[in-house]
Amino acid sequence: MAFDYDLFVIGGGSGGVRAGRVAAETGAKVALAEEFRMGGTCVIRGCVPKKLMVFASGFAEAVADASDYGWDIRRGDFDWLRFRETLRAELSRLEGIYRTNLARPGTEIFDTRAAVADPHTVELADGRRVTAKHILVATGGRPFLPPETPGIEHAISSNEVFDLDALPKRMLIVGGGYIACEFACIFNGLGTEVTQFYRGAQILRGFDDEARGHLAEMIRGRGVNLHVGTDVAAIEKRDGGLWVKGSDGSEGLYDVVLYATGRKPNTEGLGLAEAGVRLGRWGQVEVDAYSQTSVPSIFAVGDVTDRVNLTPVAIREGAAFVETVFKGNPVAVDHADIPSAIFTQPEYGAVGLTEEQAREREEIEVYCACFRPMQKAFIGREERVLYKLIVSRATRRILGCHIIAPGAGEMIQMVGVAIKMGATKEDFDRTVAVHPTMSEEIVLMKSPVRTA
Ligand code: NDP
Repeated sequence: MAFDYDLFVIGGGSGGVRAGRVAAETGAKVALAEEFRMGGTCVIRGCVPKKLMVFASGFAEAVADASDYGWDIRRGDFDWLRFRETLRAELSRLEGIYRTNLARPGTEIFDTRAAVADPHTVELADGRRVTAKHILVATGGRPFLPPETPGIEHAISSNEVFDLDALPKRMLIVGGGYIACEFACIFNGLGTEVTQFYRGAQILRGFDDEARGHLAEMIRGRGVNLHVGTDVAAIEKRDGGLWVKGSDGSEGLYDVVLYATGRKPNTEGLGLAEAGVRLGRWGQVEVDAYSQTSVPSIFAVGDVTDRVNLTPVAIREGAAFVETVFKGNPVAVDHADIPSAIFTQPEYGAVGLTEEQAREREEIEVYCACFRPMQKAFIGREERVLYKLIVSRATRRILGCHIIAPGAGEMIQMVGVAIKMGATKEDFDRTVAVHPTMSEEIVLMKSPVRTA
């Protein structure tokens, strides 16, 4: 049977673009449809603009530190609109690069929504139908806001946060995950008065308990008004701002209420279930280790599969799909020991198991260093960094590493390599320290703080 394309990719985010490009480079006839902007969540309204805001928000602290170090320097105000213009130009530049990289090997781009009509047919928004030997669903996810909260229509999500018309003076951030914690620190750094509500007992559920507690303390220490065990009872638009009643009985007035209460896979209206593709409880596409769905010609990668929702993982899944389907070399993505960072201030980098997970599995030793780093202690800052290693007593391998420190995102990448190679505590011990650095502590921790 002849098809219009060898591969039709739905979704121009990290996973879809990588798969489309490398498939086209094998000589396959490829098309890709994207309804919004090329680059997806990561480039357009996620990792990239977020990280640029992290950089922007770090300057207030840099100026304060410089002044305490002896520089004659004074902080002015942050010009949000000027930053926003530069940000928009940068995102357009990056979008252009994505588009060019995709088009160069010959991928045909449809700037429109597409849905699956049957296992080999895609229907475009204008009704046109095209056929493909393989269909790759890479439609990502979207913010979830609890619809039952009264007044939720007044809240924004991370999709809108980069386009605010003014820097809010008072902001409420709801949630305790990656996005909520990162934006709490970003806006706090930019000079906004930030309140954060998290419904559970401690932020960042699923991360190492000791690290969560340490980070919460650091975030509060920097001025974020973090309330745990608190949810929003109601939001009303009133004179002077958005009035929010908390489940703890508190009342507050804010310029912006940002919900960061998780994300849901983008599968609605895609025709997947009708085509026979099995979906999970949250609407995620169920796939095997090779990203194949229950319909053999349809594959899915990235956040839409709700495996590990991180850009580099989606990119690997996209590349592995092409290896498997177009290069005759079946590759399953290894989802173990993926390093990641939360770009709070200070940052939190983590790889491998938490102490709690490791204890469930085997006997462990825990090594910890918590101290005021030299650069900050010199100017009287109280903030402490945390370095933590979880070690198997039986194999001596490092099972997990948790770092809360400025630059932890950069450090954890390197530790991730060592852990992936199976490094033991003794491998760390025989590595000579780089002095004077903060990260030298990672090779200098001599005695466990506890065994379990
Ligand atoms: P997360 O799943 O990390 O966090 C969602 C938060 O919202 C949790 O604290 C959750 O609470 C809370 N929540 C969920 N539902 C409700 C509700 N109905 N009412 C009140 N609170 C609620 O999602 P994020 O949106 O922060 O991030 C999505 C994903 O994006 C992450 O999992 C991550 O994979 C990725 N990401 C990665 C980043 C990075 O690598 N630096 C940065 C940003 C995002 P509870 O814990 O009680 O369930």
